[in-house]
Amino acid sequence: MGVSGAAYWLMLSSYSQALGRFPFRGFRPDDGRKADSGKAATHQKVIALTFDDGPNEPFTSQIADFLHEHGITATFFQVGRCVARFPDVPAALIEQGHVIGNHSYSHAMGRCVRPAAQRTETAVTQEILTRVTGRTPMLYRPPWLLRTPALFKTLRGHGLQAVSGEFAHAFEVFQPSARRIATRALAKARPGAILIFHDGFDSRGGDRAMTVAATKIVVGALLDQGYRFATVDDLLGIPAYRTAVESS
Ligand SMILES: [Zn+2]
Repeated sequence: MGVSGAAYWLMLSSYSQALGRFPFRGFRPDDGRKADSGKAATHQKVIALTFDDGPNEPFTSQIADFLHEHGITATFFQVGRCVARFPDVPAALIEQGHVIGNHSYSHAMGRCVRPAAQRTETAVTQEILTRVTGRTPMLYRPPWLLRTPALFKTLRGHGLQAVSGEFAHAFEVFQPSARRIATRALAKARPGAILIFHDGFDSRGGDRAMTVAATKIVVGALLDQGYRFATVDDLLGIPAYRTAVESS
């Protein structure tokens, strides 16, 4: 551990709040508590499903359509470069009631640690998402959950809230079987949890069939356990988009 372990905790952990507020779990405002980092657990069986690194067709729409058929809304943290590839997808997701957040433009580690590049990544993706959806996001998830003090400064400038969560499966990127992904995800399910799945891979897309199938297993099991689902903004009691007045 030592210095590298501490640096890892500060910059990459799902849970560290040291560099800025980074909610990984939530509870609803009607609990009578403030949305926070999750130190106090909610008693309500509500979970936020989140999907990173899209849009990546046909997998993003397969997930969104399945959720929509079950009356479930989720949060999709999308990569600007992928939105440029599939520009119709974000608005279609919003039409189904899903929420879109910013997940950088290139998803490149080297650009996310350099303040100037990272500022550009955030701003360009805000512009793209605003152009294709007519809404300006207020939710941001950093690639690899990597945070720096400069990142939080950039996010404040855009009115963006950084959102953490717990990875459904550490090796989801390698697409283990849907059952394995689902088993790990379900082990992390608890009231207020924000679960992270990937409907893409970096900005590269790729086959996410196992994630699509795992989502169906997870949703079925959680519905059986009496859970319902919320978007991240709803779970945390914060806005998903800037209002027209604020963005002018
Ligand atoms: Zn990502």
